[in-house]
Amino acid sequence: MFESIDKLIDDFVNVIDSPIIPKNKDKLFVGVDLGTAYIVVTVLDENKVPVAGAYKFAQVVKDGLIVDYLGALNIVKQLKKEIEDKLSCSLVRAAVAIPPGTSPNDTRFIKNVVQDAGFEVTNIVDEPTAANAVLKVMNGVVVDIGGGTTGLAIMKDGKIMCVADEPTGGTQCTLVIAGTYKISYEEAEKMKKDPQKQREIASLLKPVAQKIAKIIEEYLPKDSVEVIYLVGGTSCILDIEKVIENELKIKTVKPKNPLFVTPVGIAMHC
Ligand code: ATP
Repeated sequence: MFESIDKLIDDFVNVIDSPIIPKNKDKLFVGVDLGTAYIVVTVLDENKVPVAGAYKFAQVVKDGLIVDYLGALNIVKQLKKEIEDKLSCSLVRAAVAIPPGTSPNDTRFIKNVVQDAGFEVTNIVDEPTAANAVLKVMNGVVVDIGGGTTGLAIMKDGKIMCVADEPTGGTQCTLVIAGTYKISYEEAEKMKKDPQKQREIASLLKPVAQKIAKIIEEYLPKDSVEVIYLVGGTSCILDIEKVIENELKIKTVKPKNPLFVTPVGIAMHC
């Protein structure tokens, strides 16, 4: 079901370490994702094939709100330069994403960070809509479970019927782990991503997954929804799709690597 998406995201992960010099350096699609947990810069070539990427774990944005302007600016500048050095060209234009419902003021701050880092901002798109540039869902619900929030877009006949964003995501998962094992936030964040601990972590985080299901349920349209598509880093949690499917009795699926779907989709909107 996700074969081509899995390949696209695998290709993106590969170019983070081994960039590909694009043939046409004047026509690049760039996306900047200022997330609660990660800041990601994605570069696609003229055929929308990934050629470079860079990301950094940072806590300079909280639920779409810039809480450390200079910190965010420095990271975007640093990631931009890192990619420019690797590709030997300038990154000029970029699209950015915001959680649905971000106020015009907060949207301006996000745009300013990206502009001040040296980009011309060509588009501002909400996160689940960005993700859907990759998923191409015509009918169903796209759910982006990120660090701070869960965003969703209800799609009907290829049109967005509703977008929403609610505070629950990976940060809450990490706090649950830290509290349960009496360890620091950083240790808990590491444990959450440890492949050896996945089963233990998945059962511990079941209540958070159930809460996410409740959020989705609130926005479900009255007429039937056939499939729920999960993306975003927190969708990496083992079997989270099974918990949501069991709660809502709606088929729930996710690609192999849900983490970079939205950043790649943002670049597609450039
Ligand atoms: P937001 O969309 O809320 O602004 P963001 O854009 O930073 O946040 P993502 O990059 O989609 O969100 O996801 C980040 C979250 O995913 C973090 O909480 C991170 O700990 C979590 N995460 C990343 N990889 C994994 C993994 N393998 N297992 C579990 N959680 C993961």
